[in-house]
Amino acid sequence: MNSSILRTRCSFLTTTVAVLLGFAGPAAIAQNAPVSVGPADPELILDLIAANRTLASYGIVDAYGHVSVRHNLDPNRFLMAGARAPALVTEADIIEYTLDGVPIDLNGRSQYSERFIHAEIYKIRPDVSSVVHNHSPSVIPFGISSVPIKPVYHMSSFIGEGLPIYDIRDESGMTDMLVNNAEKGSALATQLGDRTAVLMRGHGVAVTGESIPFAVARSIYLEINASIQLQAIGLGGSVSYLDPEEARRVLESGENRGYDRPWELWRRDALAQ
Ligand code: MN
Repeated sequence: MNSSILRTRCSFLTTTVAVLLGFAGPAAIAQNAPVSVGPADPELILDLIAANRTLASYGIVDAYGHVSVRHNLDPNRFLMAGARAPALVTEADIIEYTLDGVPIDLNGRSQYSERFIHAEIYKIRPDVSSVVHNHSPSVIPFGISSVPIKPVYHMSSFIGEGLPIYDIRDESGMTDMLVNNAEKGSALATQLGDRTAVLMRGHGVAVTGESIPFAVARSIYLEINASIQLQAIGLGGSVSYLDPEEARRVLESGENRGYDRPWELWRRDALAQ
């Protein structure tokens, strides 16, 4: 191959790569980068901060775990703190994300590697406006055992007839167990389906809600349910669970009145911290 053909081919390749990347100078980069849809409702930001602190005070998250909410101005955006212990989250930590898990303005903050859990659930569940991911300890056994989690009392009717289990090995083989890209997030969201939560084998759980109070309350009552169920099984006799019809009726009656009562308490205590 002579040098002039080589130069031509190199030039063609460079042009092709540049076109594929959409690179036509700094102006094009600025146009392609997602821009903010605008500042979120300050009350929603306070709700999100309260959610972080409440989940921490109930031991649902420790230094790990996170909670997000859809942006009130655009359902294709969500808000979540940068990578920080939830108990310490303040307004300055809140980042706007696209549903591809792309931050709008990172501004030096680090990110939760498992933000794709949230992004991919929002993509396929328009009814969900808040997501919690946690490793709450009593829930873990039900993600690794053949004994299914079931609702043991009226506060956990959202478990319904049980919860699906996402096993990261099924789609992704051997991993470091983290749902740290869109493919893994999508597989998890698919396994969630139309349920309220999905257990994650050897890891934790992703919990959804139509609002922050639902996602937070379900995370807390899921942990309590799991703890009670473990104790009841440990007693050794037979265990009576809610009948699926009973669980359905609780849900139809407004699921514990939308958790208004605990949320008023939790938010007040959290924001007083
Ligand atoms: Mn995790």
